[in-house]
Amino acid sequence: MTDIYLNGAFVPLNQARVPVMDRGFLFGDGVYEVIPTYGGRPVRWIAHMERLERSLAGIRLAPPLTREAWSDLCARLLAQQPGLDQSLYLHVTRGAPPTRDHRFPSDDIPPTVMALAKPISPRPATLAEQGVTVLVREELRWGRCDLKTISLVAAVLFAQEASEQDAEETLLQRDGWMIEGASSNLFAVIDGVILTPPLSHALLAGITRALVIDLARAAGLRVDERPISRTELNQAQEVWITSATREIMPVTRIEQQVIGEGCPGPIWRKLDAAYQDYKQHLEPL
Ligand code: PMP
Repeated sequence: MTDIYLNGAFVPLNQARVPVMDRGFLFGDGVYEVIPTYGGRPVRWIAHMERLERSLAGIRLAPPLTREAWSDLCARLLAQQPGLDQSLYLHVTRGAPPTRDHRFPSDDIPPTVMALAKPISPRPATLAEQGVTVLVREELRWGRCDLKTISLVAAVLFAQEASEQDAEETLLQRDGWMIEGASSNLFAVIDGVILTPPLSHALLAGITRALVIDLARAAGLRVDERPISRTELNQAQEVWITSATREIMPVTRIEQQVIGEGCPGPIWRKLDAAYQDYKQHLEPL
């Protein structure tokens, strides 16, 4: 049993408790961050810290810890299982005041701060040959999907429906335009150009998304951040979803529609190789 970090202490996971009045429990009033690490080294640590700070500012919560304090506690969490590839999960809520009230509690209520590390599951052996299937559904989340909040009931429902239909993910669309996955960003290769929807309040600025754009451009590939219609998506040569834990995942079926040749495409292979190579050259925490 590994320890997690909770409000300044390291405690065994099965002994960690928060009060029922915690605003995370009552309202989903908090934010989180997920940071993949390989051989103890994080992917784009600073970018993750910046996004966490943006999410906190977006819900008007002061940063509970300095970047150095996050770094120290994450190093300690990772050191419990040295050598393993692990994802770091950081979680901050607006604390546990004595009464249930939507309005912010008084300033003397400390935020709840939790962090844990967990091993990253290896990718399925079939991924590189078969890719994955995704569903498409109408967007029904709120207007600030750029904030990584813990209010995730829509993501829960989309993930469950996908799972029940043997799909990996649910892509979201609004007015015929693709937005992102319920827990991933979307890429499509159309006419040889790599496309991904532009950043806005409608989607999360994935750290993997930014990394994939940089790796592609460094490899001399063209990437355009521009809207992708539902119709275009069906005709794409390649489609991928990206996230910290999925890396770059090739999509070979959207609902009943087969994408490209029905197997992961050549541009995915090139970028996946670049991504795997990038993981070997990370900076220490
Ligand atoms: N969009 C949403 C809605 C997400 O929840 C996630 C991450 N789980 C992503 C995109 C991908 O972000 P990242 O690459 O930073 O994991």
